[in-house]
Amino acid sequence: MFADLHMHTTFSDGTFSPEEMAQAAQRHQLACVALTDHDTMAGCARMGAECARLGIEFVQATELTCEVDDVEVHLLGYFINPSNPRFLSSLVEFQKARQNRIHEMAACLQRKGVPLQAAAVFAIAQCESPGRPHVARALVQAGLCKTMDEAFERYLKKHRPAWVPKFKISADQAIELIHHAGGVAVIAHPALNKSDDIIPLLVEAGVDGIECFHTRHSTAASQHYLMMAEQYDLAISGGSDCHGMNKGKPLMGGIKLPVIHVRQLEARARRRREKTSTAA
Ligand code: AMP
Ligand code: FE
Ligand code: FE
Ligand code: ZN
Repeated sequence: MFADLHMHTTFSDGTFSPEEMAQAAQRHQLACVALTDHDTMAGCARMGAECARLGIEFVQATELTCEVDDVEVHLLGYFINPSNPRFLSSLVEFQKARQNRIHEMAACLQRKGVPLQAAAVFAIAQCESPGRPHVARALVQAGLCKTMDEAFERYLKKHRPAWVPKFKISADQAIELIHHAGGVAVIAHPALNKSDDIIPLLVEAGVDGIECFHTRHSTAASQHYLMMAEQYDLAISGGSDCHGMNKGKPLMGGIKLPVIHVRQLEARARRRREKTSTAA
């Protein structure tokens, strides 16, 4: 009985529809999956319905981009109530910032003599949460780059001409927001963000878990974060970060998290909600 708690569909920067993602999970014999699209939960209803049809447990989630002391950290929110009004209006705010960023990136490209219109990016993205992979795809489709990798290398990577920093809320605010909506907050792929120094601050802010297992974590990194989970009493999580074909190939199936960890995350969410309702 295994889970994969990190993946992105066409509702953010993945290439599989929610139904295709659920079907991929079935092919990999996963018992439980969570959809963690960036700054949106709009794909959860469809993926939840397809998972129900296939007999797979589904967890509603999202991935927020945050910062602490100028260090970028991604926080995964699980078991969130997707109709929580404050949570929803915050997501809309983050989505607007993403859309503005696409306009800024297109303007940077045009200044460099690369004739890409923001409208071409939106036509490809067809979602509320567009990001750099959509810009890369638009560049390839317009014949302005050969591959997505080339688009990132030449224009989109940090400090390249069309790189525009992303709007980030503070991790404290994100954790509070996730808790407010009934969820638990989990540090995503800590090995990719060089965020070890700020983990104690995140713990202080009430973070609930840490993604020890991730496609891009080495065995040593996973071991390291398992020890951190133990040290700070954090729940253990894991996921593939599958983006469909956007990362060359689907990554689903690469991470198999024992479902006991899903139960522990769920228990923490329940305890948080009980605490809030007694406080209220
Ligand atoms: P953004 O959130 O808009 O800054 O975009 C980040 C996304 O771009 C993440 O999902 C990354 O995995 C993806 N990304 C970064 N580098 C590349 C690359 N060379 N090719 C494809 N996707 C990439
Ligand atoms: Fe992504
Ligand atoms: Fe991430
Ligand atoms: Zn992700």
